[in-house]
Amino acid sequence: MYYVDSHCHIEDKAFNKVRDSLIKEDLKIITSGVGLGGIKRALECYEKYNIYLTLGFHPADVKADDKIIDRCYNIIKENRDKILAVGEIGMDIKRENYERQKEVFLKFMNLAIEINKPIVLHARGFEEELFKLSETKAMFHCYSGSLELAKDIGESGNLISLSTLVCFSSHHKKLAEKLDIDYLTTETDSPYLSPIKGEKNKPENVKLVVRELAKLKEMDEEEVKDIIYKNTSKFFGRWL
Ligand SMILES: [Zn+2]
Repeated sequence: MYYVDSHCHIEDKAFNKVRDSLIKEDLKIITSGVGLGGIKRALECYEKYNIYLTLGFHPADVKADDKIIDRCYNIIKENRDKILAVGEIGMDIKRENYERQKEVFLKFMNLAIEINKPIVLHARGFEEELFKLSETKAMFHCYSGSLELAKDIGESGNLISLSTLVCFSSHHKKLAEKLDIDYLTTETDSPYLSPIKGEKNKPENVKLVVRELAKLKEMDEEEVKDIIYKNTSKFFGRWL
């Protein structure tokens, strides 16, 4: 079976010179194109490589004109057959415009419901609020909320994504150790959240997340890899 990077951005311009080298045979990549430029670049990557796709609108960009947001909305709708989910979408406590973030999130969540897809959530600081607001199943990308809430989220059929932060953050190590492995998937959010100082993150670093998870759970790495692959495929409703 395969390693899974459930959330990354291989369409990011930071990868322009090395993109081909990110693709590996033993690794399933789900790239997340956000915003007008990101969505277009991610669709190009989808056509070029054997990868999976989610498309969304990032809460950091909600200052954008309604026309831009509507164009993203329409492109996602037109490409519904190519995507696994709508995302990342959500809210971020470190950004302003609470009401606007909520309005844009609801718009895209309702689109996901309309086209019958799950959502991929960016929920920094708003984990509980977004859990309550979500009316479709959600993958919480780079989950950083509390352990108690994570248990509720997992029990309700959602997926908690552990990022490369687990390689160095004690809070994320605790989540990895205590949560039922059936609630979990793995991601890098590359080119962000690098576990290696001075290097850009890349999808194959998801192996470090699996290794850390195996260590914390005192399980075999291969077994963890297979469970994560199954969890993720089940969540998206197809074998990756
Ligand atoms: Zn991301």
